Amino acid sequence: MKLWRIRKPDYRTDREERANNGSIKFPFGLPGVECCGTWGGCDLLDLQCPIELRKMRALTERRPVIPDELEEIRSTLRRYPGFANLGIMDLTPGMRFMPPRFSPPRIVDNDFLWPASEAPVVSPRVAALLGRSCPGSFVGIPMPECSDWILLIIKRRTLPPIERRSDRICSRCGRPNKVSAPTKLAIFEDMIPEGEMFLLDTTLHILITDRLKQQLDEAGVRNIAFDPIMAHAKP
Ligand SMILES: [Zn+2]
Repeated sequence: MKLWRIRKPDYRTDREERANNGSIKFPFGLPGVECCGTWGGCDLLDLQCPIELRKMRALTERRPVIPDELEEIRSTLRRYPGFANLGIMDLTPGMRFMPPRFSPPRIVDNDFLWPASEAPVVSPRVAALLGRSCPGSFVGIPMPECSDWILLIIKRRTLPPIERRSDRICSRCGRPNKVSAPTKLAIFEDMIPEGEMFLLDTTLHILITDRLKQQLDEAGVRNIAFDPIMAHAKP
């Protein structure tokens, strides 16, 4: 089965890259943790950091904390609407919350902006196309700095490769117990979720189906690169 990774195009200079994409920062989120090694991911959560907690240093500094502190921060968050039912797998160390601080490029004439590789910001026409083609695959966060454009938070992801699957997670930090296999860009059909767009569990690369790729091609979208990825039938 043929899939495509979508990503920012290769630019000649950093300056050209910034001029095309702008920049984004995620000031709020969970710190990393000193448990099962010191670690923290960079998943995005489509929830707004509660306004009352935006001065809380643990949510603005990325300094790793010990597991007890992490649990305390998680329980504080769970007192707020939206966070109440989130378990340790939904509130992973290093995870970033909304709103981001987005500086759009001075001239916006593309369809995809890549201010960060994990966070594409798309034009209203791409947002509408994706809304029709892959409802349920993403949540669109409006970017007030760039009217009607949205930040894509992709909600579906592949299963981990078989050697990284584990029913046992560390009860303190949420890290799966089997994490020794190397992270690589390998995908098998039994890992693929429903829908037309999803994240590769190991690397958070954004993958789309061949069907969605054709629709984006027909729409002539700008400022995007596609890499073909083969999903193998069997590991
Ligand atoms: Zn742990």
